[in-house]
This record gives sequence, structure tokens and C-alpha cells, in this order.
Amino acid sequence: MNFSDFASLCYELEKTPSRLAKIASAAAYLKRFKPDEICYGVAFLSGRPFPISDPRTLDIGPSALIEASKIPEGGNSSSTPLTLKDIADSFGKIAEASGKGSRLGKYNLLKELVERADSPERPILLRLLHNELRIGLHDGLIQEAIARASGSDLKAVRRAALFLSDLAEVAAIALTAGMTGLQQVDIKLFVPLLPMLSELSQDFNEIFTAHGGNTALEFKYDGARVQIHKEGDRVRIWSRRLSEVTSSLPEIVEIARRDLQGDSFILDAEVVAVGKDGRPFPFQELMRRFRRIHEVETAANEIPLVLHLFDCLFLNGTSLIDETYTQRWAKLEAITGGKYLALRKITGDKGAAEVFLQEALAAGHEGLMAKALDSPYMPGNRGKLWFKIKPAETVDCVIVSADRGSGRRRGWLSNYHLAVADGSGGFAPVGKTFKGLTDKEFTEMTTRLRELELTDDAYTVTVRPEVVVEVAYNEIQRSPQYSSGFALRFARITRIRDDKSPEQVTTLANLRSLYERQFVSKSRRES
Ligand code: AMP
Repeated sequence: MNFSDFASLCYELEKTPSRLAKIASAAAYLKRFKPDEICYGVAFLSGRPFPISDPRTLDIGPSALIEASKIPEGGNSSSTPLTLKDIADSFGKIAEASGKGSRLGKYNLLKELVERADSPERPILLRLLHNELRIGLHDGLIQEAIARASGSDLKAVRRAALFLSDLAEVAAIALTAGMTGLQQVDIKLFVPLLPMLSELSQDFNEIFTAHGGNTALEFKYDGARVQIHKEGDRVRIWSRRLSEVTSSLPEIVEIARRDLQGDSFILDAEVVAVGKDGRPFPFQELMRRFRRIHEVETAANEIPLVLHLFDCLFLNGTSLIDETYTQRWAKLEAITGGKYLALRKITGDKGAAEVFLQEALAAGHEGLMAKALDSPYMPGNRGKLWFKIKPAETVDCVIVSADRGSGRRRGWLSNYHLAVADGSGGFAPVGKTFKGLTDKEFTEMTTRLRELELTDDAYTVTVRPEVVVEVAYNEIQRSPQYSSGFALRFARITRIRDDKSPEQVTTLANLRSLYERQFVSKSRRES
């Protein structure tokens, strides 16, 4: 297929706001592929130079891209039309150019490619090079287009997408092997799948009812989610967002190799950074470990990690996700011999559950998870099969500005910039949230903020700081992004405090002491 066809499709998709029309055009495009074009054709459609499961990256700096966008046009008229394959081949060569002098080598390849693109093709090529097509075609729509083009069930496409985490691969299977092919897709080792998620609950009675009497309570560790894949000696680890973190976590790799039984497995777990006293570090310190690529050993000494395993999705060649929680836990116990497991208690008694919650909090953890004993593992699913229970803390903030909403929130001012009193008559920003209000409250809040409007840059409206809201959060972090120096993690509005005036909101000094207090139950890294 010619690249000009792809560019025309992009312009068409960019113009049409209709979901159905977008799906129809994308499906027609998919149908025209020859089998070997599918992988890169779908990757391009999702705005990526390479399919997700392809680890290559272009690695071109922003200045080279700016230079490339200035290359004069006119070189393409005599050459043959640019095809999708030409683009994929060039991207491959650019990604593979490495080592000394590769910057220039990459730029020359890029220049050659850009020069071949004619004027309608060029902007689309440049957007692809920036990893962003801006044509309003998110993954959900691409999945629908794949189902339409291949005549398959949307459910089967979605299921395959969960297991393969790569729409290019899903499309390749759907378009060449149809429903039969899709139905054979199963969990694959070394292909991370989306983690199962939970719903927030504050009430054990709600949980016991939803879980049919008894529930499995586990400590909810305040760390980072990891998915560990192992086969023989090979171990790879992915984060909750499915980025690979293997090289940052050597001690977890070592545990998987050395201490756990089973030829092959996929395990779900939380890793927590701990201080010398065994109490958890705040989340931010842990993230430093995750981002660490250099001097991993030093970091491992400074911020040691503890592993808490809580699920087993695959064992010795067989997927376990359709088995019950109880069956999966039994396998997890067998693999670990009881080591590294999340602490848990099975109960249907509210008093016992409360005691267990207090134990978790006293040990510096976030709260509890409650898991239905007969539940399968549902990748990417957030529902009542898993609940999280954690006491929220609140502060009072004033709304200082608001962003316009999009999608379902279009027409509302729905993302609120929150601030605390800075102690000298002004307000210091501590975060943003679009969570917590009902549709009716959003509408009323929009009208109210409009009346307080000071400026409007078409995206953000700044307002007179008068509306006070109670905001729940999970942790206060240090933040260079805000002038206050702090950010509320997972901020959500719990109440509109019309009974309070802006002079009565939480002060920066209060916030600082709340931040410090977090370290009473959590270890602080000595700096
Ligand atoms: P959420 O992601 O909002 O559903 O909250 C659950 C998060 O808690 C998971 O993503 C894990 O990172 C974390 N977590 C900590 N301990 C556990 C546990 N025992 N079971 C499941 N998730 C846990």
C-alpha cells in the first residue's frame, strides 16, 4: 500500500468526529493490507513507528526532528511513490543505526526519507516520527475496526488484545486466521498482560455481601505493581503500565530464579522499598528505583526492595486465569513454599476484618485488599471481585482555576486546580483533580466558577479563589512541579465546603507537617 493512502486516511479520520465513521474507514484500510503489511500498518495507525511488542525505538532527538521538518520539498516527483513498506524499512534502519557517529547516520536516513515524502504525506510522516498522529483513533476504536475488517467478534478481539498487549499482532491474527485464530490466543510468557484492578470500598459489609459471605483479605502494600515472567533461567519483569523494569530490579530477578519453584510462571506482586527498620519508604523513593538504569547495585543497597507475591497467572505452560482465586493461591503457595507471600486472612467477620486492617496500617501499609474466593483473574478489569480498603486523609483546598473537560465532560469546567493557603495571603497549588463530583455538581460548579472567572485562555479558566472543597488523597509527595513544593497523590473531592471560607483552608505549614507525619509510619531515606 502506498503511504499516500495512509496519509489520506489520516486526514479523513482527523476530520470526522463520528465514531462509527472512524471505525468504518479504519476497517476499510485494514482490509486492503497484504499479510506482510499488517503489523507495521496497524502500528502506524495507532501512531507508533513500531508495534508495541517490537522493542526498537527510533531514538531521534527533538532538534533532529525540528531540522527534518524544515527540509525543503520537491525531491519526490521523479522517484517512485513511497510505500508503507518503505517507511517501515527506513524506520528499521534508523532504529538500528547506533554507536559512534550514529546521530549523523540517523539524521541522514531521516532526511532521505522525509525528502521522498510529498506535501500531503510529510505532515503525517512527521507526526508518526513524533509518536502521535492526533487523528482521534484510540485503541478501542482500532479494536472495533479489526473486528469489523476480519468479520470477528469484538469480544474475541478484546480478549486477544488483553493477552497480547499489541494490536498489530491481534490484527495480524484476526485478518489472517479469523475467529478461529483469535480463539486460540492465550497468555504468552514474556508478553505482559494488564493487571487486574480493584474498586475502592470503605465498608466490610459491602464486601462480604459482594463476595458471598467470606472474603480473602490481604495486606495492601504501598509499593509498585510488578508482573514477573520466568522460564528456566530467563526472567523478565514489567511494571503496572507494562514497561519493562527487569534491569532495575536485580534482586527480584534473583528471587525468581533462585527461590521460587516451577519451570515457567507468571506472577503478580507488589514490591515495596524498605528502610533499615523494615518499614516502607514512601512511593516516590520506590519510583527512583524503578527509573534507575545506572548504578543499580548502589541503588539496591540504598533502597532495598521487598517482594510480596499475591497471584499466579500461569504455571508450567498452563494459563491459570480462569481458575478460582483459591486454586491460584494454592499454586502460589506451592511455588513459594510460603515465602514472599502477601499476608492474608480469610474471614466473613467484620470485627476480625477491622483488626486485620489496623494491623496493616500499624505496619505502615496502605490498607487491605479483599478478593472474592471464587473469582477468576480478569486482566485489566476493575470491579467488585477485588476491593481495596484504605482510610483516606483529607485537606481543605480552594479552587484557583479549572480546565475545560473533554469527551463526556465537554462543556464543563471539570479539572480543578487545588491550592492551600501559602501563609502570606496567597494560595499555593498542590494538585489537580476531576474526581469526586456528580454530573449535577459538575454543572453547578461550572456555573459557579464562570461567575468567578478572571482569565480564560480557551483551555484553563482562572477564577477568584472562593470555592472551598474537601479533598481526599492517598499520599503527599514532594513536587518540583508545583510552587508549593508538594503534590497530593490521587486527589479527589469528597465534599464542597460551602461552610468554609478561603481563609480557612489548610495552610502550607499544615500540609508540610502532614507530609512529615507520613514518615512516622514510613521509613525516610537518610539523605
Ligand atoms: P488499584 O490499582 O487502584 O486497583 O489498587 C490496587 C493496587 O494495590 C494494585 O495495583 C497493587 O499495585 C497494589 N497492591 C498492594 N498489595 C496488593 C495485594 N495484596 N493485592 C493486589 N494489589 C495490591
